[in-house]
Amino acid sequence: MSDADVLVVGAGLAGLATALRLTAAGRSVRVLEASDGPGGRVRSDVVDGYTIDRGFQVLNTAYSELQRLDVLDSLQLRDFDRGALLRRSDALHLVADPRRIPTGVRGLATGVAGSPAELARLGAFVAAVSYGPVEALRRRPDRAFLEVLESAGLDGAPTEHFLRPFLSGVLLEDRLTTSSRFVEYVLRTFVRGRVVVPVGGVGALPERLAARLPPGALGYGRRVVAVRPGEVDVEGEGTLRARAVVVAAGPVQAATLLGEAPPRVHSVTTVWHAAPEAPVQRPILVLDTERGPVANTVVMSNAAPEYATGRGALIASSTLGPEPLPPDLLHATLTRLWGVDTRGWTEVAVSRVPEALPDHPGGSPLRRPVRLAPGLLVAGDWRDTPSSQGALLSGRRAADAILLRP
Ligand SMILES: Cc1cc2nc3c(=O)[nH]c(=O)nc-3n(C[C@H](O)[C@H](O)[C@H](O)COP(=O)(O)OP(=O)(O)OC[C@H]3O[C@@H](n4cnc5c(N)ncnc54)[C@H](O)[C@@H]3O)c2cc1C
Repeated sequence: MSDADVLVVGAGLAGLATALRLTAAGRSVRVLEASDGPGGRVRSDVVDGYTIDRGFQVLNTAYSELQRLDVLDSLQLRDFDRGALLRRSDALHLVADPRRIPTGVRGLATGVAGSPAELARLGAFVAAVSYGPVEALRRRPDRAFLEVLESAGLDGAPTEHFLRPFLSGVLLEDRLTTSSRFVEYVLRTFVRGRVVVPVGGVGALPERLAARLPPGALGYGRRVVAVRPGEVDVEGEGTLRARAVVVAAGPVQAATLLGEAPPRVHSVTTVWHAAPEAPVQRPILVLDTERGPVANTVVMSNAAPEYATGRGALIASSTLGPEPLPPDLLHATLTRLWGVDTRGWTEVAVSRVPEALPDHPGGSPLRRPVRLAPGLLVAGDWRDTPSSQGALLSGRRAADAILLRP
């Protein structure tokens, strides 16, 4: 006797994408989520009236899976500038897409401080990955992104002053050993898409997706403790059966349930401060060309005033690793980066995300299999790429595999 056609373990983006695809095809689905809400790593809370995402993150409107789900128009989106302010000695240098901010190339010369030849090579490289055919990116051999930079002659100032500071906050690793194919895709989406957050926080995205599921399909507080083809054991509840089980429980939990060694993961910590006023007016990341301990810092309320309605400015500052910096070091670093005294800023929340992104080193397959055995499948960013796009795509792939061959 089966409890549904398909049981999905986890209501992160991957699990939600699986469930949406299957219910649209007329299959009955039950999603079992251990926590108290949808979204997994993409959740937001309200703390003292401020919207706090569980770690600084953004959505990119160029992600094909977000477009396919046709969900962006239902979210009120707020834009960040596509660029950065580079802190180099005593000045902030604006580097931005010149099609939108005409002065945005000036900072390349002053902030990146590469030779004219290096800057020309950087421009040509970004243009080629952004506007060349996507098949060309797929066909190139995959290796550590740093090796690509070295062979393109970009491993001097362009890497140290711009690409490494920018990408370390995206990839959550600063050695740039991540897959070149993935990093080139990330650069392409940053140039081609809008970089946004919904007014209610990034968690509004999974909430909107979860609301599309049939009533009763999604259950919270239901922890799966064992999986087998066509069966799961739910803590305190017993065994549920279905024709197929999709394990979408995040890299570490899913691998553990499946009896695999968990993949390496990268961690990040975001400290959220309230300030009486914003140190700059632009909705833009500030990056450190001096490789300091803060990966990036941004006035969230410049992009989305709703994050701090009527309460001054809300600033998110992220460091790689599972723990925040000691407060004195954090304030000294933020004071140097922003060029204002930050000791009057008050801490609103700290988001520690020890399992933020699965490692995706050079040489990784573009896609890992989602079907493990008849009746047992897996989905999640660790089966595709470490991103919202990868999680959603893996979920759709798992659903399609079931629809093709249950
Ligand atoms: C701080 C941070 C910043 C990021 N920034 C970006 C960004 O800017 N752009 C981008 O594209 N991506 C970003 N990402 C990556 C993106 O958020 C993830 O790749 C994606 O959300 C992963 O989704 P998932 O469904 O694979 O896994 P998860 O979100 O981890 O979902 C797994 C779900 O399974 C549940 N679960 C676990 N174990 C069990 C169990 N035993 N039983 C039942 N349920 C269980 C969990 O509670 C969770 O809800 C960021 C991630 C973090 C953490």
